[in-house]
Amino acid sequence: MPELPEVETVVRGLRPLLVGRTVLSARYDWPGSLVTPDGPRFVARIAGQPVRDLYRRGKYILIALDPDTLIIHLKMTGRLYVVPDESVHDADRWVHFIFQLDNGQQLRFSDARKFGRVYLVDDPQTVVGALGPEPLDESFSLDLFRARLRGRSGRLKPLLLDQTFLAGLGNIYADEALWASQLHPLRPANTLSDDDLNRLYHAIRDVLRNGIIREGASVNWYRKPDGAKGAAQDTLSVYGRAGLPCLRCGHPVTRIVVGGRGTHLCPACQVWELA
Ligand SMILES: [Zn+2]
Repeated sequence: MPELPEVETVVRGLRPLLVGRTVLSARYDWPGSLVTPDGPRFVARIAGQPVRDLYRRGKYILIALDPDTLIIHLKMTGRLYVVPDESVHDADRWVHFIFQLDNGQQLRFSDARKFGRVYLVDDPQTVVGALGPEPLDESFSLDLFRARLRGRSGRLKPLLLDQTFLAGLGNIYADEALWASQLHPLRPANTLSDDDLNRLYHAIRDVLRNGIIREGASVNWYRKPDGAKGAAQDTLSVYGRAGLPCLRCGHPVTRIVVGGRGTHLCPACQVWELA
């Protein structure tokens, strides 16, 4: 599933193509992806709304129209791209939403597995209001991270995936951050020392920044808006490396299942011992 770096890359790629345009009309063939409002109201309401801005919150793409906000979650297989009206795109066979723009171009939302979600709301907080802090925001300090972790007895990996705890991390970057900070995914959060916590805080921010610089990890479905793959998959340290030597100590990386999610770790250098 696209995570913070992938969604950020999509937003950055689409922003210059959409801001200043107007959505003339919308059509869809899969109402199951439309959370709110219902189809007829969605089509009626979005027509004629100008695009003021594009931004990301967690893994959500927010397209600030006027007066509403169009919110899209790519989930597993969603792709967003802007192309000329008549043009054919590789991902068109899974297109379920088409937004006609005022410059002879279309914003298309392709989604093979149909897990993606589309919202048109007057207040974006109704969709993203419960999300935790943005890990790359200036306001996300080490002190804030420490305060949010305090008293959390849950295990680290599920906690990092909890979008109300921290917004934007998913399976890939959570594994990468835990490997980089040499912390075991099953370790209870409230057992971290100050030094552990400091390493984890910086590792989270480092792996996400690296993901953005490399324009996301195309390990499966994710593509940039121009259709090309990101490059972050080439620099992953532990995700997808089961059986290969740990890049830090040489011990084979193992894959375990935590909370139903495949989890990659080095059992030799991400050790958790009960004190
Ligand atoms: Zn290792």
